Formats: sequence, C-alpha cells, structure tokens
Amino acid sequence: MPPISAELQDDIAKRLHQQHDDLLATIHGRTDGDPDEPPAIAPMAHMGQNDDAPAAEMLSHNEEHMAEHDSDQLAAVDAALSRLESGDYGTCVSCGCEIPEARLVATPTVQTCIPCQERIEREQGTGRGPSM
Ligand SMILES: [Zn+2]
Repeated sequence: MPPISAELQDDIAKRLHQQHDDLLATIHGRTDGDPDEPPAIAPMAHMGQNDDAPAAEMLSHNEEHMAEHDSDQLAAVDAALSRLESGDYGTCVSCGCEIPEARLVATPTVQTCIPCQERIEREQGTGRGPSM
C-alpha cells in the first residue's frame, strides 16, 4: 500500500508526466541549438528544507553536466512513475521508511529519505564506500 494519499499520488503522477515531456523536449531541443525553458525540476535548495548544503552542492555540480543530468532526471522520472504504478512510491529504497510528503512534493523523483540521501551523496562525493 502506498504511504501517500491517492490525491497526492495523482498530482505527482501528473507532474512526473509533465517533467518527462519537458525533459524529452530539452534533450531533443538541445541538438537544435534552441533550448526551451528549463524543465521544472524543483531544486530542493529553495524548498525550505534543512538539507540545503548537499542540494546546493549537487546543483552546482550538475551545471557542468546538464546533458547527463537531463538523462539522469529522465531515468529518475521513469523510475518514479513505475514505482507509482507498483505502489512502492513514497518508500525509501534504502531504508524502507516512508518519505515525508513535503519531500515528495518538492522533488517527486526522490527515492530516499533525507538521511539516506545525505549518506548516499557523501558516499558518492568521496568515491569511497559506505563509512559504516
Ligand atoms: Zn531512508
């Protein structure tokens, strides 16, 4: 059973489909040299959450890898949509806890809770394995 309400699920599904289309348009538009408005990928840094630092780091990092980032986002959107269908959406893939709705609304593609994301980013940032 999904830990989020059907209403929120519906809303997020719509946003994900929209984001999917935007990303496709951006990825294809890029080669024409006619980039459209950037897709509405809500940056977490401005959503009033208290994980600003890692999100901001991630954003500046992504500036250099926008094309790669868009493909990653598209994959994340697809993954989120399939989790919505399977009923796994809203559950942290790392620890299995319920992801807070506010976090899902801010970033519909998240797959992890905040502590897990911070841990994963630390691991990826250092290129070393888990610290535990
Ligand atoms: Zn977690």
